[in-house]
Amino acid sequence: MEYKSTSRDEILNNLNKFQKEDSKYEDGKILGSMCTSPHPFSKEIFYKFLDSNLGDSGLFKGTKAIEDQVIKNIGSFLSNKNPYGNIVTGGTEANIMAIRAARNFARKYNDISNGEIIVPKSAHFSFEKASDMLDLKLVEVDLDDDFNIDLDFIKNNISDNTIAIVGIAGTTELGLIDPIEELSEIALENNTYLHVDAAFGGFSIPFLKNRGYDLPNFDFSIEGVSSITIYPHKMGLAPIPSGCILFRKKEYLDVMAVNAPYLTNKKQSTIVGTRLGAPAAATLAVMDYFGIEGYENAAVSAMENTQFLKENLIKEGYILTVEPKLNIVSFNHPNISADEMALKLEAKGWLVSVSSYPLAIRIVVMNHITKNHLNDFIKDLKEIN
Ligand code: PLP
Repeated sequence: MEYKSTSRDEILNNLNKFQKEDSKYEDGKILGSMCTSPHPFSKEIFYKFLDSNLGDSGLFKGTKAIEDQVIKNIGSFLSNKNPYGNIVTGGTEANIMAIRAARNFARKYNDISNGEIIVPKSAHFSFEKASDMLDLKLVEVDLDDDFNIDLDFIKNNISDNTIAIVGIAGTTELGLIDPIEELSEIALENNTYLHVDAAFGGFSIPFLKNRGYDLPNFDFSIEGVSSITIYPHKMGLAPIPSGCILFRKKEYLDVMAVNAPYLTNKKQSTIVGTRLGAPAAATLAVMDYFGIEGYENAAVSAMENTQFLKENLIKEGYILTVEPKLNIVSFNHPNISADEMALKLEAKGWLVSVSSYPLAIRIVVMNHITKNHLNDFIKDLKEIN
């Protein structure tokens, strides 16, 4: 077998050819992604920390301190001065960690061996992975006509085997926020774990509330909340892969810990072993650079563009699925199916996504989308019939 060395120029040319095939956020055509272009400063910092491994954190004590600082900083706007947790690859890993903590805690303290998790139908599919990997029964909560969760269904289906209830702060398809206060009451009454998936909403709801938006609370100030998923690599403008899991108690990390004999830290609670430290450093950089005020501005600007898009869609006769609570707009053409619409838009260069429940065009108004892009989009929409 021959695999010969190639010159740097040739390698670069070859990779550039591949990269040209990728869509670019700055073109403003990516309308269906929850990710966006990270801040340039955070990219610079990311590169500086490419050698660090948080999986062997005794060797990278500085980067470990950075991870702890990020968790503390995020806790400061989620009403928890002393949270425990990790920076992980994203929402999926954070949700799996939370459910693993809940399962192990229930096994150890409540003697539950056949666990069940109660999860809204609107939840991200990562909970399906969690239930499969952790061998837990998935009990799906029905939604009402407005796509909100049915609390009575939860009350009627909670059982002695329930190890966790999940609530969402910013659903993937519609950006809706579950009533976490009410879920907390149910969790406390039944002595069970409540995990809040704020992967999407966590980096915008607190900042929008500061600026007067009327949104419900979802954080650790609510007594029953045991853990929160939140990810910097979406509305936090940090580079991928940067997700976070925050726990109220250290015990939740302890019940997942396994021995890691050959490493500098002898116990490990994360799912992943070798973990790049660059996302932690890049996240701290972007958080310090923006501060709360910068994040407030980013969240408000995305909401203003959301409102602009919504009003124009209504003007053009499109049907909105729900009133947007966060920066997601879901809509349908009165006569053309969502799948057909998506294809017609793609032919004009627009990359939207189609949601499953309900079937609709879904636009996530992320920070790379400007009013000019939206004006162009609306112009093209007028030509579709
Ligand atoms: N949770 C929510 C609410 C999400 O919207 C997503 C992804 O969009 C996830 C979890 C999964 O995140 P990731 O794709 O980073 O694993």
